[in-house]
Formats: sequence, C-alpha cells, structure tokens
Amino acid sequence: MADPELFERMVDDLKGRGMSDGAIDEARAYWATAPNNAPALPCPICYLSGGEGKLIALPEQDGVESLKCRSSSEAPCADRTVGGHA
Ligand SMILES: [Zn+2]
Repeated sequence: MADPELFERMVDDLKGRGMSDGAIDEARAYWATAPNNAPALPCPICYLSGGEGKLIALPEQDGVESLKCRSSSEAPCADRTVGGHA
C-alpha cells in the first residue's frame, strides 16, 4: 500500500484547503488501497472532487520532497510539499 506517512505529511495542506476531517479520513482510506509506487499515487484533492488525479514525485530539492498532481484539471492541486527531512 501507499506510504501512510506520506499521506500524513499532506494532511496539513489538505486542511488548509478547507477539507473536513471526514473527507480526509475518506481520502486516507483510499490512499491505503493504492500501490506504493509513484506515479500511481492517488491525488486526495482530485479524489474528493470526483476525479482521479495521479501524483508524481518531483526531484528532491533542499531536502524537501514534493508531489505534483498531473491532473489536467484546474483543480488547485499543483505543487504540494509533502515534508522536509529535517
Ligand atoms: Zn489532483
């Protein structure tokens, strides 16, 4: 399954976008069904808006890993920092 830790790193961002706890739980459950190999990771924002965006990993920069949604929609899910390795 997809890395649960990776999802948890996105939670603050999702909350910042106004996603409810219930919606986040739903996205987390969906995330858990995904295989753990990008680019097959599901975009939580696209999922909750009824789409099927896939996240692709961007090259690590300054120790920060980012996932980018490659959905062609204009959903506000372009660049997403998923956490730094302090
Ligand atoms: Zn998306």
